[in-house]
Amino acid sequence: MFLCADLDAFFVSVEQVLDPSLIGKPVVVGGKPDQRGVVASASYEARAFGIRSGMPTAQAYRLCPHALFVGGNFGQYTLYSRKFCDILHIYSPDVAMASIDEAYLNINGTERLLGPPMDLAWKLKNEVREKLHLPLSIGVARTKVFSKIACDRSKPDGLLMITEDNEIPFLSPLSVRVLPGIGPKHMDVLNNLNIRTVEELLAAPEWVLSTALGNYAKVLQFLLHGGDFNSHDHTKSISRETTLAEDTFDRELVYALFLHLIERGCSTLREKKLLAKTLTVKIRYSDFKTVSKRTMIPTVNAQQIIFERGIPMLNSLLAEKKRVRLIGIALSNLTHDGLQPSLFAVRMNRINRLNAALDNVRGKFGFSSLSPAQVFAIKDRKNNNYHEESKY
Ligand SMILES: [Mg+2]
Repeated sequence: MFLCADLDAFFVSVEQVLDPSLIGKPVVVGGKPDQRGVVASASYEARAFGIRSGMPTAQAYRLCPHALFVGGNFGQYTLYSRKFCDILHIYSPDVAMASIDEAYLNINGTERLLGPPMDLAWKLKNEVREKLHLPLSIGVARTKVFSKIACDRSKPDGLLMITEDNEIPFLSPLSVRVLPGIGPKHMDVLNNLNIRTVEELLAAPEWVLSTALGNYAKVLQFLLHGGDFNSHDHTKSISRETTLAEDTFDRELVYALFLHLIERGCSTLREKKLLAKTLTVKIRYSDFKTVSKRTMIPTVNAQQIIFERGIPMLNSLLAEKKRVRLIGIALSNLTHDGLQPSLFAVRMNRINRLNAALDNVRGKFGFSSLSPAQVFAIKDRKNNNYHEESKY
């Protein structure tokens, strides 16, 4: 089970702790209305006037001129966030902060120590209230996605649990708006198809959804059927680069290094259960001129596929007849593994099995215990006298 814990109107709530005269009033954090700024947080009393986070403060002022506008105190917010995080760690060893005021707790196996999920949730809520004087909303469910939806539905100061057999009845009547990643554009498309509730979405034929939502349809199906996002990982891109010990004309060596970097990057992708959609290749020549190219690739984490796509890019970057000093790759536009485009299914299954076996051997004997033939070229020729950097 997962527990999503989200402090209500966090910045405003902290301001109210620091200055109790603000309690029960329409309060807006985000600067004065005559300055150019946006609302960072609004009290529920201010929200009643239609004020929302992200709205220009001038507009918030027009909606509610008697609201109290405060500038914000990020030092205090960070301090409270840290205290919140400390309390969460009493309730689970596996806490992932999703933002300054929101976290996911894996509460599997905490039952013997802390009681059933609802007891644990009440204790946590009360402890945050007593120690920090902040209102906390909590959702409990089988996946992080469902716990987040439950938490949002419980606000403010709420507590809601979705049991496994209640997932579909709970979600069915809700607007598709509650689903993670549904933006205004998706809403328009779904509205045009007369799909307004989760129930209607679940009933829609697959081809309708994939026409309407593209790849996102698959993500939604995955999440609605109990798949989950991994909130532990906020990796945006995985980059690897190598500066050669000696600038080289040797194209074969450059290819070998290129493959090696892609292998390294893909190995990290698989470790983090991620797939990449974009490949960037970078070359620096001996005169320090740097060229790079970026391309969309099939959503994969298999070096075989990425290497195939990368070779033409590398070739076009190597058009200049100069020595190469540095070579780098970046894998970005990352999504979570768990979905495979069907087009690649047959070949991908084979490659995935191969890569799982590679990872397995490397896990036991180290990364360099297995290398494709091309990479041996590096070892022979340069005795590993290049140096490699990794960036995340
Ligand atoms: Mg919050």
